Amino acid sequence: MADTSGRRAELEANLQRVNKRIDDAMAACGGRNRPTLIVVTKFFPPQDLLLLHELGVRDVGENRDQEAAVKAREVPDPELRWHFIGQLQTNKARSVVGYAHSVHSVDRSSLVSALEKAMAGRAEHPDSPAGGTTRGRPAVLDCFVQVNLSAEGTGRGGAHPSDALEVAARIHDSDHLRLAGVMAVAPLGGDPREAFSRLAGLSSELVSRYPAASGISAGMSGDLEHAVAAGATHLRVGSDVLGARPPVG
Ligand SMILES: *Cc1c(COP(=O)(O)O)cnc(C)c1O
Repeated sequence: MADTSGRRAELEANLQRVNKRIDDAMAACGGRNRPTLIVVTKFFPPQDLLLLHELGVRDVGENRDQEAAVKAREVPDPELRWHFIGQLQTNKARSVVGYAHSVHSVDRSSLVSALEKAMAGRAEHPDSPAGGTTRGRPAVLDCFVQVNLSAEGTGRGGAHPSDALEVAARIHDSDHLRLAGVMAVAPLGGDPREAFSRLAGLSSELVSRYPAASGISAGMSGDLEHAVAAGATHLRVGSDVLGARPPVG
């Protein structure tokens, strides 16, 4: 076994720093409900997931199915909740529902249909290979509507804000999906406060129709304070816990 004590200490210190930032941000805005910290482990090895679990982390985020599926098999800890946060092709839906507890990046009706179909198949054949690690897992998949907040509608995925409620309705009408709320990534180069306040506005609209859909998944390493101030319920933090990601090759 490689000596992991140095890495463990590093992750522990980083987690403490991030948790302190969340505490400070909550104190600064008078927030009462602590958001769930999702540690984004993309590009980092399964060993880091084991160490994070030892350090009390239960919510982890991944953005590519190929990588996430392998890690979920290698770290089959029933206590870990896997959040899928990346752009998702419909033909990956079956794989993703084999391990994911939530998908934060639902941005179009065709993806809603694919996820619903995959979840329904899983429910019918819990022990088939497609059912994957079904046992002990919830029978519904939490889905956030990802909203594109960039001015031109380009950028990092997500439904146009004017389409978001339609996607939400489709999720709400699905038997095996639960409408959890909204998600966004602050546009590169933009003001995250402005972006997250628009997201909070959309969230209010959503909640007025679907009171249970109160989740707001927002905030990353660089802007988590602004997300907390805007009422985020889920933060997705990668590099400030795990370190700089290796460049994508
Ligand atoms: C990678 C990623 C994150 C985490 O980003 P950091 O800046 O490393 O904290 C959050 N959300 C999404 C959608 C991501 O792809």
